[in-house]
Amino acid sequence: MLVAARPVMPQATPFIVAVVDDDLAIRRLVSLYLKRSGYGTLECTTGEEARKRLVESPWDLAILDRRLPDMDGVVLCQELKSNPAFRARYIIMLTGDDEQADKVEGLELGADDYITKPFQSPELLARVRAGKRIVDLQKELIETNRRLELLSITDGLTKLHNHRFFQDELARAFEESARYERPLSLAMIDIDFFKKVNDTYGHAVGDDVLKRVAVLYRDSVRSTDLVARYGGEEFAVMMPETALADAITFAEKIRNMVESTPIETQSGPLSITVSLGVASVPGTKINSSKELIVAADKALYRAKHGGRNQVQAERRQDVNRKTEKSA
Ligand code: GH3
Ligand code: MG
Ligand code: MG
Repeated sequence: MLVAARPVMPQATPFIVAVVDDDLAIRRLVSLYLKRSGYGTLECTTGEEARKRLVESPWDLAILDRRLPDMDGVVLCQELKSNPAFRARYIIMLTGDDEQADKVEGLELGADDYITKPFQSPELLARVRAGKRIVDLQKELIETNRRLELLSITDGLTKLHNHRFFQDELARAFEESARYERPLSLAMIDIDFFKKVNDTYGHAVGDDVLKRVAVLYRDSVRSTDLVARYGGEEFAVMMPETALADAITFAEKIRNMVESTPIETQSGPLSITVSLGVASVPGTKINSSKELIVAADKALYRAKHGGRNQVQAERRQDVNRKTEKSA
């Protein structure tokens, strides 16, 4: 019997206001106003306590008393504002009525607004609402940037990492492998006669094939490996801590899996094969991630010319010859 899954309602995370004041009456009063208006609160009595808790616990807006027993509120304000993790947070300073210089200094040192004691609850809540509008906008901006960043390193069709990201990561992994003398392998995988798939079944079916093989590759690699769409119907797998013999075994596994897996498409299951070229460091005269790609590409070229549906590894003399020529 099928049981319908209970829908999960998204939980709105409360907007949290930290109230830092050594005066118990003010702290309680401010917290009460805030809680009644639906905000979450976090109460701190001293600057030192706030310093610790505001790093450990989430908060969105802080109301800081200027006169704290152990430190000047503006010092704490400046410290919080200089922490990149708190760039999107909003800080309201609580100052005495006659402390004009305090207000100016507080704003100069990073406070976003101030409230003068004694204060009325409507003003306090209005200022918190104004702060919330800014924080919400900033959060949206950060989220949009995060999505754009992800988009810029993702291949739209297969959702794998794209060429650009792969090249950067391979360059980084190459440096690391050279520095610590650890093995690093690269496999280039190219679908055989892919043009025929497009020509026979149409581009949409070709796209289905690319999406399906991307899933096969992604599910076959280890968590420390990186698989990417290198371009067109060519994919690349970076394997840190993997020497050539193991990389060849992996490549053979992929070749065999693709050959024996019917690839589901909108025109029905298709049989396809792939050719692979593998290259590794150390043990060869490969001096850069670019040379590693060239070596794997040369091996792939040999796999194509050797009849396709096969794995070829880099040949030491190929790399040496290339390195000498370019030297
Ligand atoms: P080989 O065995 O030598 O690799 O032959 P091939 O036909 O696979 O290689 P070729 O380079 O001649 O053709 C690759 C084809 O891949 C041509 C191109 O139109 C197609 N292609 C590249 N990107 C995409 C894509 O995103 N979607 C689809 N459907 N086809 C693509
Ligand atoms: Mg005080
Ligand atoms: Mg091809």
